[in-house]
Amino acid sequence: MKNWGKILALFLLLTLLGSSFFSCRSAESNPPKDDAEDRQEEEDFPRTGKDNIAVCIDAGHGFGDVGCGPAYIGAYEYEITIRVAQLLRDKLEKEGITVILTHDGSTFPSSEEITKLADQHSISYKPENMIDNNVFSAYERVIWENVLDRQTAGGLDFFVSLHVNSVENAPQVSGMSIDYCEDNPNRSFLRGFSNNLKKACLNAELTDTFTIFEDTYEDSFIVTKYTEVPSVLIEMGYSTNTNDAQKLCSEKWQNQFASLLCERICYAFGK
Ligand SMILES: [Zn+2]
Repeated sequence: MKNWGKILALFLLLTLLGSSFFSCRSAESNPPKDDAEDRQEEEDFPRTGKDNIAVCIDAGHGFGDVGCGPAYIGAYEYEITIRVAQLLRDKLEKEGITVILTHDGSTFPSSEEITKLADQHSISYKPENMIDNNVFSAYERVIWENVLDRQTAGGLDFFVSLHVNSVENAPQVSGMSIDYCEDNPNRSFLRGFSNNLKKACLNAELTDTFTIFEDTYEDSFIVTKYTEVPSVLIEMGYSTNTNDAQKLCSEKWQNQFASLLCERICYAFGK
């Protein structure tokens, strides 16, 4: 039995070493372990009952942290995320939704400013996770989002972080995904929203696959687990897949995706 245990351990080790997956996920947190796609059901959806909706959009990366690319894509991840974030902001604002970006692509709040305001609003955070003034880290973004939530009249209703995925030595891997934390108090809303977005993206042929990850707290991204606001992280496609890369860099695709995301957010909030 002991030998079987060793063989199993060796097999697991080799499997682990053999998987060459990496992605921008590693910059934020550990990757989710299982695809919760099949057990998603639409529940309590759409959510209605509030007139003034406020959405916070986080364009992933920037400020020295370039994210994925540009091997296939011809652009860095941070360039694509800020573009889509701006398009989404403009479209949501036209629908009468208040929009706040975590950053505008050129400036971001310093960790001193974030901690000062977090203290003023009694927001709990770990000071040791605050990095420095040169990088707007995932942790700083989410504490900043909590500050924005307190500063916004009526609070924020939704938080979306936009990213581009990548995977080493697997150019065939493609598609879009959405992550949220199963411990979020609005889990059923997030399930419903994710399912709805998935169906819409597939119907519009904006992506060939769409995976929904309902992550455990441990596996969740920093930006989805340290907030009570309904929060999602969307990987818009793979920078390492030629087809996805073409879409991600196309103004037409960026515009179509931003429109569809805007529509689904409006639908989710009964607008
Ligand atoms: Zn990323």
